[in-house]
Amino acid sequence: MLVGDVCAFMAPLGIALEKSLPTRGREGLRHTHDTMEQAMATPYLRDMIGYGPNPPNPQWPNGARLALNFVLNYEEGSEASFADGDDYSESTLTESGGQDIQGRDLAAESMYEYGSRVGFWRIIQLFQARHLPLTIFGCALALERNPLAAQAIVQAGYDVCCHGWRWEKHYDLNATEEREHIHKAIASLQQTVGARPLGWYCRYGPSVNTRRLLVEEGGFLYDSDAYNDELPYWVVVNDRPHLVVPYTLGVNDSKFGRGVFATAEDFLTYARDGFDLLYREGVSQPKMMSVGLHMRLTGHPSRAAGLERFLDYVMTHKDVWICKREEIARHWMANHPYVS
Ligand SMILES: [Zn+2]
Repeated sequence: MLVGDVCAFMAPLGIALEKSLPTRGREGLRHTHDTMEQAMATPYLRDMIGYGPNPPNPQWPNGARLALNFVLNYEEGSEASFADGDDYSESTLTESGGQDIQGRDLAAESMYEYGSRVGFWRIIQLFQARHLPLTIFGCALALERNPLAAQAIVQAGYDVCCHGWRWEKHYDLNATEEREHIHKAIASLQQTVGARPLGWYCRYGPSVNTRRLLVEEGGFLYDSDAYNDELPYWVVVNDRPHLVVPYTLGVNDSKFGRGVFATAEDFLTYARDGFDLLYREGVSQPKMMSVGLHMRLTGHPSRAAGLERFLDYVMTHKDVWICKREEIARHWMANHPYVS
């Protein structure tokens, strides 16, 4: 499932049209009096409307009321680390949250290692025992550091959506660096999981260049660098149609790392409430639901228990399409192609 008939579809997207894109600072439009007139004449940078009150019926396979996609973020081993020449140890989304240590933070390193050594195996076991699919948001360097995990991902047939060459902030990269990192990530995943990635998702948020660079590269089916909808949608980048499959930090275990969720029950309640509401709406207006997981967080037994209960809960429902992210993208392309 990692390779496919993508070439035919993607062929028209192969050309870079970088020069036609205006460069803008991250601050966007400045709302000073002097610039307002200019701003009125310039197309607004954001879309505040989307599908509006009548989103399209996605026509999910077999009349499903909901497309449910589980995402496992594979980041451990690619985070900032002295071993990779960085000048600090990453400690985001760990049990301690970091202690501002000068030099190596061996505790934080070790909490990351737990994710790839233990958490990964526990989580995929929960999915395999139930024959459920999973999407991996894979950081390329992290998978290089654990060939056993990469092999398990291939054997299980999970789709790998690229989560960067490293787990890094793309908005801190310039366009040249970012283009280079995208290419490094593709080459690396080709080696570790035997196929180039067809989806892309940055750590937290993209840069102002990311989407253009992905379209320029030409081989991606979609990106998930958006939180603004519950259905895929098309955008046009340098005159090329490009599919966005929005993600969420809503039903996401990163809330454990920020102290929002404390127990498995918190996660379960939050996830189940969202599922129930979407399931009810799905009678007339089906949507997609993403559930985000991290190995160093949900991989701990006290949290994995909440995931386990949620999986069992959703499996008691009929007409739910539990699927891979790549399947959602392909479904949208086939059933809701871009119309100019
Ligand atoms: Zn992530």
